[in-house]
Amino acid sequence: MGYLVAGNWKMNKTVGETLEYLELFLPAVKDLTKVEIMIAPPFTALSSASIKLDAARREGEYNVKLGAQNMYYEEKGAFTGEISPLMLTELEVEYVILGHSERRHIFGERDSLINKKVISAVEHGIRPILCVGETIEEREQGRTLSVVERQIRNGLAGVERDLVYIDIAYEPVWAIGTGVNATPEQAQEVHRFIRSLINEISKGNDHKTRILYGGSVNEKNARELIREPNVDGFLVGTASLDPERFYKVITEVLEV
Ligand code: PEP
Repeated sequence: MGYLVAGNWKMNKTVGETLEYLELFLPAVKDLTKVEIMIAPPFTALSSASIKLDAARREGEYNVKLGAQNMYYEEKGAFTGEISPLMLTELEVEYVILGHSERRHIFGERDSLINKKVISAVEHGIRPILCVGETIEEREQGRTLSVVERQIRNGLAGVERDLVYIDIAYEPVWAIGTGVNATPEQAQEVHRFIRSLINEISKGNDHKTRILYGGSVNEKNARELIREPNVDGFLVGTASLDPERFYKVITEVLEV
C-alpha cells in the first residue's frame, strides 16, 4: 500500500467551512493518486463532505477518502450522543480514527473500549487508524516502548488476523498540537518497534498495516520525517485545517 496522509480536523469547521475548504482543496489534489489522502471533518459535516467528494470523483481522478474522528461500537440503541458504524458506512466513510490521545486523555477512553471500537470498525468494513503514543512523563521515565506496546496489544486484541484492514498512528502526546514534532530518529525508533510488534502479532499473516506518524507535522518537517523507512504516512491536525498547508504536506510526501 502507498503512503497515507490523513487530516484530523478535530472540533473545527462548520458545514459551510467544510464546503469552502473542499472547493479549494479538491482541484489541487485532482490526479494526485500516488498518495492516499484522507480528511476527517466533524460528524456534522460528514454528509456534505461525502456528497462533495462523490461529485468530484464523477469528474476526475481523486484519491481522497472520508474519515470519522471517532465511533461507538454498537450499531444502534440507547447511547446518547454517540455515532454508530452503520451511520458512517451510509455516508461512505472509509476510515475511522480510534484511540486518539484527546479521546484517551480528555474523555477517559481506555484500551478495552478502544479495542471494542476497533473490532466493530473492522466488522463493518471501516478501516481503523489506531492511535498510540506516550506522554512526556512516560518518555522521561523510559517507558515509551512499553506504553506503545500495551496500547497496541490491547487495542488489537481479537483482530490479529485482520491487520490487513488496520493502520496505526504513532502520536507522541507531547508532540500533538504543540509545534514540537518528534525528530525523525525518535519517530523511526518507535515505528521500527511497532513494525516488529505488528509482524509478531499477525503471526506471519500477510498484513498491510501502515504506520503513520502524527504530532506537529507540517509542510516544513514532512519531508525529513517521511524519509524514514518505517514512516508510511502522516496523521495531521493543525496543518490540515488550511487547504494550502495540507496540500503542501501531501506534495512533500510525493517528492520522496
Ligand atoms: C492530531 O490531532 O492527530 C495531531 C497530530 O495534531 P497536530 O498535527 O496539530 O499536532
